[in-house]
Amino acid sequence: MSTETILILGGSFAGIGAAHYCFKHVIPRLPKKDGVTYNLTLVNPSKDLYWRFAAPRACASKEMMPPKKIFYPIEPAFTYALPKFKFVQGTATHIDPAGQTVSVTTTEGEQQSIQYAALVIATGFSTPSPLFTQQTDAVALENVYDTFQAGLKNAKNVVIGGGGPVGVETAGEIAEILNGKPGFMASTPKNPKAKVILVCSDKKMLPVLRDAISRTAQQYLNRLGCEVIYNTKVVSATKASDAHDAKTKVELSNGDSIEADIYIDATGTRPNTSFLPKEWLSDRNKIACNPQTLRVEHASAGPRIYALGDVASYTTGGVMDLAIAVPVAMTNLRTDLIAHLSGTAPTGDRHYTPNLKEQQICPIGTQKGVGAFNGYRVPSQMVWAIKGRDYLIGQLAEGTMRGDQFKTEGKWKPVQDAGRMGLSSG
Ligand SMILES: Cc1cc2nc3c(=O)[nH]c(=O)nc-3n(C[C@H](O)[C@H](O)[C@H](O)COP(=O)(O)OP(=O)(O)OC[C@H]3O[C@@H](n4cnc5c(N)ncnc54)[C@H](O)[C@@H]3O)c2cc1C
Repeated sequence: MSTETILILGGSFAGIGAAHYCFKHVIPRLPKKDGVTYNLTLVNPSKDLYWRFAAPRACASKEMMPPKKIFYPIEPAFTYALPKFKFVQGTATHIDPAGQTVSVTTTEGEQQSIQYAALVIATGFSTPSPLFTQQTDAVALENVYDTFQAGLKNAKNVVIGGGGPVGVETAGEIAEILNGKPGFMASTPKNPKAKVILVCSDKKMLPVLRDAISRTAQQYLNRLGCEVIYNTKVVSATKASDAHDAKTKVELSNGDSIEADIYIDATGTRPNTSFLPKEWLSDRNKIACNPQTLRVEHASAGPRIYALGDVASYTTGGVMDLAIAVPVAMTNLRTDLIAHLSGTAPTGDRHYTPNLKEQQICPIGTQKGVGAFNGYRVPSQMVWAIKGRDYLIGQLAEGTMRGDQFKTEGKWKPVQDAGRMGLSSG
């Protein structure tokens, strides 16, 4: 009796999507052999998916975005796949491609070595600010938010570094919590309680969107009492002491210095790749993979390793892109696994083609927002309806946990790669 395991590292949007795809379209198609069973193991440090989209509102106010709306238990989402599904609450620490094993440290501190027949790495990214990343479990992140909100209550000066969507959305939520909702036609708040400053290194905020949309975003921030500084970088941010209410000295590249009650670093993301061999990584520390097939092709990686989601070099990130990428990675995994298990040559690949149209939806406070979808500008009211009212929770959270997006395989045409024909061993 032997078990072939499909191992997925990371239980967020990419990992959960990949696992559902696997149970619906991969495992049922693997060759039926006497004494061989197939299962899927998912490894994640937390028991819950963290609805990261909502972090800008969740960090600003528990009342506006309660914890029960931002955490979704992973294991119950796969009850339908038992006994083939196994969840390990832990962190991958090392990969041995020669032995095809991954070392995992569980939350209880136990060391496990998990053998894989195919491996999907979907470990995503962390942010410099703890407000936008779930490091361990839900309770730990709730504590981070409680401490932050206690400090926010009396804040008079808040600085946010980073003019991307996370910085802009967070600036909007925090400015609205501190300064209140402006009147219908108002261009600034009546009695602002706090000064909120967004520092953008670029000449515009939201660089993915056209200039006119970025300008509208600035107007919406201004009406909440948030000032925007362009062409300026945060050079350093130093807290006066460890006390949670200590001021932070924020030094800017234009020579200015601000004594902030709160500084939020929203300047970028760090791929979670420190446990991987350096030679598998791109110059941005993402997993370097084939941009069409999503296979990790470094010679030392060995066969049947795939990179998926924001951790991977093929993508600029985002959850919408996963609707395209998950079927590609998992179809190629299936093709490779069938070839390996049956000793035949692999059939054609499924290729990834990104949607490069202008696309980003960015709420600014609870009333307004800017964005574009598939190259078309989205009016503020639509931004509110799509994302601003609850950060997509009502529309997408339950369906994401059920894997609704991957009910069908979607249409695709196999692409033959002469160089890969005959690659069935390993
Ligand atoms: C504040 C904010 C708002 C956003 N809003 C949007 C939006 O509106 N629309 C959109 O499309 N995108 C948005 N994004 C981006 C979106 O969150 C990412 O595209 C998405 O989370 C990527 O999913 P992922 O599964 O690839 O990685 P992640 O969500 O980063 O998940 C990776 C998972 O792997 C786990 N992990 C890390 N290391 C290990 C390890 N060694 N072993 C095992 N597990 C590990 C992590 O704990 C995590 O659970 C937003 C991001 C932020 C920060």
